[in-house]
Amino acid sequence: MFKKVLVANRGEIATRVIRACKELGIATVAIYSEADATSLYVKKADESYLVGPGPIEGYLNIHRIVDLALKVGVDAIHPGYGFLSEKPSFAELCEKKGITFIGPTSQAIADMGDKVMAREMMKKAGVSVVPGTEGSLKGVEEAVVFARDIGYPVMIKASGGGGGRGLRVARDEKELIKNLEIAQSESRAAFGISDVFLEKYIEKPHHIEFQILADKHGNAIHLGERDCSIQRRHQKLIEISPSLILDAELRERMGIAAVKAAKAAHYVNAGTVEFLVDDKRNFYFLEMNTRIQVEHTITEEVTGIDLVKKQIEIAAGRPLGIGQDKVQARGFAMECRICAEDPKNNFRPNGGRVTAYYSPGGIGVRIDGAIYKDYVIPGFYDSMVAKLVVRGRDWDEVVSRMRRSLDEFVIRGVKTTIPFLRKIMNDPDFIKGNFDTGYIDRKPELLDYAEYEDPIDKVAAISAAIAAYHGF
Ligand code: ADP
Ligand code: ADP
Ligand code: MG
Repeated sequence: MFKKVLVANRGEIATRVIRACKELGIATVAIYSEADATSLYVKKADESYLVGPGPIEGYLNIHRIVDLALKVGVDAIHPGYGFLSEKPSFAELCEKKGITFIGPTSQAIADMGDKVMAREMMKKAGVSVVPGTEGSLKGVEEAVVFARDIGYPVMIKASGGGGGRGLRVARDEKELIKNLEIAQSESRAAFGISDVFLEKYIEKPHHIEFQILADKHGNAIHLGERDCSIQRRHQKLIEISPSLILDAELRERMGIAAVKAAKAAHYVNAGTVEFLVDDKRNFYFLEMNTRIQVEHTITEEVTGIDLVKKQIEIAAGRPLGIGQDKVQARGFAMECRICAEDPKNNFRPNGGRVTAYYSPGGIGVRIDGAIYKDYVIPGFYDSMVAKLVVRGRDWDEVVSRMRRSLDEFVIRGVKTTIPFLRKIMNDPDFIKGNFDTGYIDRKPELLDYAEYEDPIDKVAAISAAIAAYHGF
C-alpha cells in the first residue's frame, strides 16, 4: 500500500480523499493557493504546500505539482474531480515520473474525454448512443441536413465539453445556424478546440448514471445507478439512488451496458457511465466521466462501499475483491448540493464570510463540507461548499429526512441553495417522483421560496438596506 498520497485538489473533495487516506493509514499532502490558506482541507492534511499565489494556476501546474510530489516523497497522487482529474497529460506525466495516478490510464482519459471518440467506441462496442452526427461537424450544411432528417430540437455539443458547459439547444434552423457559430467559439475559448457535434434532443429524459469499479486484473463491476435529473444549467443539484423509474430488469440491462462500456474503454479505477433514459424507457449512452464524481456519496450510502478507498486500493494493484453478485443496494440515499449561489439571480455564485454555520445531524445524515464559521468563501472556485447526504429505508423516509436536515442547516452571511432546496423538498411533484431533467426550468414557482428563507438572514438584509439608505 502507498505510504504518502498528494491530493491535487481543494475544497470538500480534498477533505474526502484525506479522510480515506487516514483510514488506510496513509500520510497526506495538500496543496493550496493563497486564497485557500484558511481552507479546512489544508488543516486536515499531514503536510501542506503553497503552490503559487494565483487562485487557479497553482492547481493546474502539472510540472510543479509532480516536482513537489517527488521532493516530498509521495508515491501516489489523487486528482479529485475537476482541475487535473481529466487531463491526460497529467496522468501521463505521473506515469512517466513513477508516481501512481489514482485513476484510469492517460489513454482511457483521452479516449473518453473526447465525446465524439467516446461515442464511436461505444457504437463499436454495441452500446446505444444518443442519435447524432458521425464524428465532428464538417460544416453548417451537414448540421442542417442532420437536423432536418432527425427533427428539431437538436443539441449542439462541444466534443471537449464538460461540467454543463459547451451545450446549446437549437429549436429551428435559424437557431441552429446562429448557435453553431457561438458554440464553436465558446468551445475554442473554454476547451481549446472548436470541434462540435449534434445530438437529437431527447425530450423530458432522466439522467441516469452507473457507478463503475474496475481493477488492474480485468475485473469490472457496477454499483448501481444514480438519478441526477434535478439540474440547473445542465448541472446537477440533487442526486438520488436508486432511481424511481428503473425496475430490476432495466437496471440489469443498463448495468450490463455500463460494464460493457467500461471494458471497451479498457477502463481501470472508479468511473461513471452516464445515460439518458427517455419516456419510453429507451436508454442512450451520454458520456463517461473518468474520475470520482461529486455524487459518489449516495452510492456509498446505499452499497456501504467506500469508493475513494476502493480507488486507492485499485491504484495500488489490489484486486476488487467483490463480485457483481455481492453488490447490494439497501434503501435510498439523496444528495443535495449546497452551493454559495443566488438561485434568483440565475444561480450566480457568490462568495463572502460565513457568519454562522450549524450543520444538521442525527440518524442517516452525512455532511461532506468545506466551510466553517468565519471562513471566507473565495469567489474564484466552484460554488459548491457542502454536500448534504441522507439515507433512509424508502423514498418517503429519504425525502422527509432531507427536508428535516435542510430545515436544520444554517449558513448565514452568503446566499445559498438551501431555501430553494427546501422548497423542492415540499413540492408535491418532487415528492411524487414527478420530475425529469427539465424540472427546474419548467417550474419557475420554485423560486418563490421566501417562506423557507432563514428569518435572521432576512433581518440582516433589511438592516443592511436601511444602513445603506442612511449612508451608514
Ligand atoms: P459530476 O459529473 O461529478 O456531477 P460536474 O459535472 O458538476 O460533476 O463536475 C465536477 C467538477 O468538475 C466541477 O467542479 C466542474 O466545474 C468540473 N468540470 C467538469 N468537467 C470539466 C471540464 N471539462 N473542464 C473543467 N472543469 C470541469
Ligand atoms: P457534460 O459533459 O457537461 O456533463 P453531458 O453530455 O453529460 O454534458 O450532458 C449534461 C446534461 O445535459 C445532461 O444530464 C442532460 O440534462 C442534458 N443533455 C445532454 N445531452 C442531451 C440530449 N441529447 N438531449 C437532452 N438533454 C441532453
Ligand atoms: Mg455529464
